[in-house]
Amino acid sequence: ALAQIGVTGLAVMGRNLARNFARNGFTVAVHNRSPQKMHSLLEEHGDEGEFIGSETLEDFVASLQVPRTVVIMVQAGGPTDAVIDQLTGLLEKGDIIVDAGNALYTDTMRREKDLAAKGLHFVGSGVSGGEEGALLGPSIMPGGPAESYVTLGPILEKISAKAEDGTPCCVHIGPDGAGHFVKMVHNGIEYADMQLIGEAYDLLRTGLDLEPAEIADIFAEWNQGDLESFLIEITAEVLRQTDARTGKALVDVIKDEAGQKGTGRWTVKSALDLGVPVTGIAEATFARAISSQVAQRAAARDVLTASTGDFHINNREGFIEDVRLALYASKVVAYAQGFDQIRAASEEFGWDITLGDMAKIWRAGCIIRARFLDRITDAFTRDADLPTLLVDPYFSDTIADGVGAWRRVVAQAALTGVPAPAFSSSLSYYDSLRAERLPAALIQGQRDFFGAHTYKRVDVEGTFHTLWSGDRTEVEA
Ligand code: NDP
Repeated sequence: ALAQIGVTGLAVMGRNLARNFARNGFTVAVHNRSPQKMHSLLEEHGDEGEFIGSETLEDFVASLQVPRTVVIMVQAGGPTDAVIDQLTGLLEKGDIIVDAGNALYTDTMRREKDLAAKGLHFVGSGVSGGEEGALLGPSIMPGGPAESYVTLGPILEKISAKAEDGTPCCVHIGPDGAGHFVKMVHNGIEYADMQLIGEAYDLLRTGLDLEPAEIADIFAEWNQGDLESFLIEITAEVLRQTDARTGKALVDVIKDEAGQKGTGRWTVKSALDLGVPVTGIAEATFARAISSQVAQRAAARDVLTASTGDFHINNREGFIEDVRLALYASKVVAYAQGFDQIRAASEEFGWDITLGDMAKIWRAGCIIRARFLDRITDAFTRDADLPTLLVDPYFSDTIADGVGAWRRVVAQAALTGVPAPAFSSSLSYYDSLRAERLPAALIQGQRDFFGAHTYKRVDVEGTFHTLWSGDRTEVEA
């Protein structure tokens, strides 16, 4: 019998994705550039379902039902192009190539265009959930032509995570790069979420002089409420971990230099191009960059000895609750901004993305899975055209309840010198959105002064310029 689907690239992700297909009853063709990964998959897990292993790409393609569906799960970038090149020589019109790696969406747009010209369907698909998600059910974000989803959709939905109500965490996001774009923003939001949790931890630790294990208990408790999410859950696990070598908390022996593979940076770059303020994601990405500026940090530590105040915490429980509320409010801001970016890209590229669907497919399987996503789905169900998530009645009320706490936490952080870039910039964003008047009017005046860039008036239609270097009368431009 021929295979219904094939996976090439059998490192951690591809191997587990192939097993997931097999465990769900699909016959899976498997291939890896270096054949030993294919053999070890069959040896270790061959009994989990029907696999057809091939050492060459030719045999792999020949083992697939027509129209063929090939999932590529290799290192993003050059390797993906190399595999696509080899495959295009072997595939026929109507076959589907799915790139399930973390491709940059502009690469996906280029690849789809090239392959469409050859009669091949190309589906750039985001897959989130890491190794475990790939095996047990990831959140899947396929882009590409709608017609390919007719064949591909049911297969992907079957292996995807399921939300509590049974809905598959997989939906056709939109054409060409839409799937990879949404996966990129998902990762950007993940950066913001992680940074916010990090800031909450730092404030609790410094403010209350707590040990990591004690903070683990606080996070575990938060995980019972509105903040319930995978990231909060694993934060408690990480904080509770003791280092076997030293007996210290593991978090205290890990170097405080955060790595990044690029999806946060891509999200911010795209946001700059689209003109969408994703301040939470940007602060999180820059915070990782600051953490890695080892030489600068060492130099600054000795010199920048600005005096700081002490924490004045009379009510321990009150402070913990303040930090929880600040975390929740900042998190709503970060998600609202991420959704704004998806909407802007959808308009820019004509993708017609349904925002509520994004929240739905992130409810399970992926790294940012959280109870809170149900609330976002509800918000977009109530009003698909919400100008921002922040004005949805549920979220605006929740933030209104917590805004005092949010301000106290940001103020405490500033007074005591604990860096809280994502907390404070999220609050500034919130205040900017709600401000009656912004100093942008002054900026327009400055721009008109030095560059005759003109301005608009609040009272009269039209475009105006003041003759700054002349008699300073106003003229219509
Ligand atoms: P890696 O990103 O480490 O890639 C290794 C795989 O790529 C191996 O199968 C390797 O083959 C293959 N490969 C590399 N170069 C080539 C080439 N020129 N031609 C053919 N094959 C090549 O694997 P992961 O499983 O970690 O990730 C796979 C993809 O999934 C990546 O795009 C990644 O960004 C994405 N992803 C990863 C997640 C994770 O948690 N790890 C989560 C979500 C997405 P060989 O064995 O022969 O070297």
